[in-house]
Amino acid sequence: MAFGIRRNDQVVITAGRDKGKRGRVLRVEPRKDRLFVEGLNIVTRHLGQQGGQTRGGLTTKEAPLNMSNVKIVCPSCDEKSRIGTRILGDGTKVRICKACNEVLE
Ligand SMILES: [Zn+2]
Repeated sequence: MAFGIRRNDQVVITAGRDKGKRGRVLRVEPRKDRLFVEGLNIVTRHLGQQGGQTRGGLTTKEAPLNMSNVKIVCPSCDEKSRIGTRILGDGTKVRICKACNEVLE
């Protein structure tokens, strides 16, 4: 998955409650096959009791999404796409958009 989705990529959710929504990748956990997307898949947590005093607050945070439920959005063609790779003349591997063949870096 070295050439998969990375932090700061734009992605679109393809399944679940936030299907069709887009956001920026905050964090990727390749070993767990999951990632976090800014503002998407939000869960609300109750702040627990602290020191015997009840704090009535709620906090929200992003819950992880499975890699298989997101697709990258290409910054060039604005299509949800798949990532390909291309080897440049100097041997550098780069990610490309499989829809328009533009380099994604
Ligand atoms: Zn593209």
